[in-house]
Order: sequence, then C-alpha cells, then structure tokens
Amino acid sequence: MKCFNHPDVDAVGSCSNCGKGGCRDCLSEIEGMLLCGPCYETYREVAIEEACEERKQLRSRIIRSYFMAVAGFVLGLIVAFSESNARQGLGMQLLMVVLFTYAVWSTYWGAIMVRPFVRKIREKLDFILFLPLMGWLFLIFLYIGIVFELSLIYGMAGGAIWAFIKHRRDLEAVNRELEAAG
Ligand SMILES: [Zn+2]
Ligand SMILES: [Zn+2]
Repeated sequence: MKCFNHPDVDAVGSCSNCGKGGCRDCLSEIEGMLLCGPCYETYREVAIEEACEERKQLRSRIIRSYFMAVAGFVLGLIVAFSESNARQGLGMQLLMVVLFTYAVWSTYWGAIMVRPFVRKIREKLDFILFLPLMGWLFLIFLYIGIVFELSLIYGMAGGAIWAFIKHRRDLEAVNRELEAAG
C-alpha cells in the first residue's frame, strides 16, 4: 500500500477512521489512533466542540452552586432569626445560618453526583407503569424522598466538597486544553 498523499512512498499504516494508507509524515498518532490529515482535522474540531460543551456545563454547575449557597444563606437567616429561634442566642443562630448554607449547597452537588445512580434504578422501575394511581403517587413520593435524601447525605458527608473541587479542576483542565488548541 502506498501513501494517499505520496504515491511513490510506502504506507506505514492506515487511518483508523477512513482506512486510507499513509506514510510517516501523513499520519498523526492521537490517543492510540492513527489519523490522516483530514480525519485529524475533523477529530480536532469535534474535540474542541466537546471541550467547549463540557466547559459550559462545568461553569454553569459551579455558578448554580454559588446561587444555591446564597439561597441556603437566606433561608438560614430566615429560620435562625425567626421568632421560634429568638432565644437561641447569636452564636447558635449564626451556626444555623452556616449549616443551612452548607446543607443547600451540598445537596445541590449531591444531586448531581447521585443522578447517574438514580437513573440506573429508575430504568429498573418500568413495572410502575402498571400500577393504579395510589401506587403511582406512593412511588413518586418515595422516589423524590430517596433522591433528596441521597443527595443530602452524600453531599453533606463531604461528597459536595469533593464534587466542587473536581468540577473546578476539570474546568481548569478543559480551559488549558482549549488554550493549547488555540
Ligand atoms: Zn482518514
Ligand atoms: Zn505521505
């Protein structure tokens, strides 16, 4: 087999995508694949597009988590300084505000992290389609309750901090990748 680009040069391999044979100069190796020029360009464009998409998702999650923290903070203020907690003392009230802020923020991250797991369970629950209305309602409440509790427990137990750091790191990595790609 000869190179697709240089008819008088022997091919050293073929493109993993389109199968054209290429010489050493005309094939690029990337992530274990050999790619010819045009396929390499397409691959790069798709990779950049995917990285942009990923960056958008990571950013919006991080920003949403900040909004969640603000919402938790406001909720904490409302609860801690409500009449029923007026006698708690300032220290206790501030602690409640911190706890609410953390709880809402970490439940948000918990929900993101348990989502794939919950989806798997839901796929196994097709049989609920055959249940009468009461069964449906029961399962819906059970489902919402379980998802909420899983998110809360997972998030507050430290999963949220881990998820937050991971998202920040992934975002930096994607940014670097995109910068390198120009
Ligand atoms: Zn190719
Ligand atoms: Zn060539």
